[in-house]
Amino acid sequence: MYTLGIDIGSTTSKCVILEDGERIAAKSLVAAGTGTKGPMEAFHGVLSKAGLARADISAVTATGYGRATFGEADGELSELSCHGKGVHFAEPDCRTIIDIGGQDAKVIRLSDNGVLSDFVMNDKCAAGTGRFLDVMANILQLGIEELEIYAARAKSPVRISSTCTVFAESEVISQLSQNVNIDDLVAGICDSVAARTAALARRAGIKDKVCMSGGVAQNGGVRLALAKELGAEVFCVADAQYMGALGAAIAGYERKRKESAFAV
Ligand code: ADP
Repeated sequence: MYTLGIDIGSTTSKCVILEDGERIAAKSLVAAGTGTKGPMEAFHGVLSKAGLARADISAVTATGYGRATFGEADGELSELSCHGKGVHFAEPDCRTIIDIGGQDAKVIRLSDNGVLSDFVMNDKCAAGTGRFLDVMANILQLGIEELEIYAARAKSPVRISSTCTVFAESEVISQLSQNVNIDDLVAGICDSVAARTAALARRAGIKDKVCMSGGVAQNGGVRLALAKELGAEVFCVADAQYMGALGAAIAGYERKRKESAFAV
């Protein structure tokens, strides 16, 4: 049985096709999120990569910010539950998930059997999210994937004191005009996101093993700064940005299994 999960985020659409609830058959990512053609492109992209048609898919489950708007889905589930299911599948030992996406950050606690037990979320402020990093990368004319390379070379990270993205933007521009070292500036930007996320994580309470999911998990600069802030090792789940879509595909599989058990 094939089930498909689609995570329609603020910046990116992600799809995963799961075979028999066990194996990832294909995945796709389009850097365009809710309100764009991105979700449909990701959907058709993953079907074509798997060599499957819509009729071959038993369940299509949508999650993410735009989950209610996707006509191809026959079910939907919250991002919190989907990230929980996805990360538990990928890293069964994980007990704390730190998910930083394009417009929010969540800290999710899992019980020993992988069930969501608690969460704390920042969805009110762009600081401490991917949006903050996107804005800063844009000012510095760097690709988002380059930030970790610069941060790794830093000798003395610059402290970004503004807690608001708009003011921090002015602060970074002012630092640039003073010819501050770019590596130190990028490290300071990563530190700023980590400090905000660590405050969330402390509210939720940290339990090992701590894993990051979401697009920002790929930024080694943020991961390292977060580990320092928390005094705990912070792992990046493989395919971190796909964890919501994976969890949605798992949820579809569980739903179909339940339905067929009732049908017997
Ligand atoms: P959403 O679901 O809200 O669209 P995602 O979990 O897909 O969010 O994460 C999007 C964010 O991930 C972007 O805002 C960007 O900052 C970050 N990101 C994406 N790709 C990379 C990468 N290769 N390296 C570092 N950060 C990345």
